[in-house]
Amino acid sequence: MPEKLIIELSKEGRKGYSLPHYEGQKKDLKELIPERLIRKSPPNLPEVTENEVVRHFVRLSNMNYNVDKGFYPLGSCTMKYNPKINEKLARLEGFLNIHPLQPSPTVQGALRLMKNLENLLAEISGFEAISLQPAAGAHGELTSMMIVRRYHEKQGNPRKYILIPDSAHGTNPASVTISGYIAKQIKSNEQGRVDIEDLRANLSDEVAAFMVTNPNTLGLFETEITEISRLVHEVGGLMYMDGANMNALVGYIRPGDLGFDIMHFNLHKTFSTPHGGGGPGSGPIGVKKFLEPFLPVPRIVEEDGELRLSYDFPDSIGKVHFFYGNFNVFIKALTYILIMGEEGLKSVAENAVINANYLKALLEDEYTLPYKSHCMHEFVLSGKFLRKYGKVKTLDVAKRLLDYGFHAPTIYFPLIVSEALMIEPTETESRETLDEFAETLIKIKKEAMENPEILHEAPHNTPVRRLNEVKAARELKVRW
Ligand SMILES: *Cc1c(COP(=O)(O)O)cnc(C)c1O
Repeated sequence: MPEKLIIELSKEGRKGYSLPHYEGQKKDLKELIPERLIRKSPPNLPEVTENEVVRHFVRLSNMNYNVDKGFYPLGSCTMKYNPKINEKLARLEGFLNIHPLQPSPTVQGALRLMKNLENLLAEISGFEAISLQPAAGAHGELTSMMIVRRYHEKQGNPRKYILIPDSAHGTNPASVTISGYIAKQIKSNEQGRVDIEDLRANLSDEVAAFMVTNPNTLGLFETEITEISRLVHEVGGLMYMDGANMNALVGYIRPGDLGFDIMHFNLHKTFSTPHGGGGPGSGPIGVKKFLEPFLPVPRIVEEDGELRLSYDFPDSIGKVHFFYGNFNVFIKALTYILIMGEEGLKSVAENAVINANYLKALLEDEYTLPYKSHCMHEFVLSGKFLRKYGKVKTLDVAKRLLDYGFHAPTIYFPLIVSEALMIEPTETESRETLDEFAETLIKIKKEAMENPEILHEAPHNTPVRRLNEVKAARELKVRW
């Protein structure tokens, strides 16, 4: 039975709280709050008992799919298991009970934690300076594009274009556009990597930067990246790395060593911390020394062993987040990095790559693998061949996977693969899980060939059946 909205469970006069009896002198509301701010009518809040509230939300949480419940191969998103110790440390009293406006001398521990995280990210990435402020990868991209602009302005010309491969994540061109640049698309070659000739043809002294994900969204390492860096630098452009796929590199390759000038991390991908569910993420950026003056303020500075936040950076692009970023996420990411250690982080990249190649080997002859090559931490299949069986689409395959208790992979991205299924198992999955997932995808393929209607109407076993996604997007209903 579908769960009712909590407002539909409301019965006048029911309560889930009790307040202690107040003995003191009562005051009129108007003495405490300006009259214009006082409600004229009561808010429309649900009136329910405590157990009704608890049961309602437990029922909803049971319907939810999450990485603690099952396999979550959502390509590009690195939905790895999040160790629970992250949560435990983030809930330490000392962290919970401080306030961002406290004077620096009283929050030295929190500042030290951020400084340590900055130093570790710098070491992992090969960059000289880090800002923890951006709230997510996309925000890191935008912040970085603002830095690129500020840098070129200082050189006398902000320039016009940011070059982006056609396999890029949608946030890349969005960040470019919002920062006032024009995104120019660079073709991929037959191996699924940047087409150097097309890059060369588009390079000019109006190119502000080249923005590339490495490994790219097909899960392929850009093997010519140092040559690409050389070419872009030759025309005075900067190299930007979208670091969303760092899970494939961490401990092995430092983007700073590949010629990149600036990059973003997704702490909620590479360094666990929960990801998704609308919760806060964190997209720190790293820069080479010459870009450090442009980083957002405040920055953490150290004098005589004392840390403080400083706004005294005249060339800074300014503030990009209230206070200094999502502190709670920093605690979780730092916990993860320290627990894993250098060897542990290397094993992350190793096992992420091994798991992806193992799964790819089980599936590449069953579905189509458009770019034939070993992969890094993810790979992209095409389900285009299924069209000949009762017009089955990749969307139908994804929906059918839900019936078998799996989260679907990313579909229809990257755009250069038609009917794409982008699969990223991550390092935290066992061989048995990967086998079971592959068997299920093969079973679904057989169903498509023999009984396509089952797929067209999937999912059959989920709390909500197939939604009209266009209607859901066009007629957004957020009020009851
Ligand atoms: C996830 C992702 C982003 C955006 O990161 P968010 O943290 O979701 O804002 C950008 N590029 C790639 C390749 C990604 O996978």
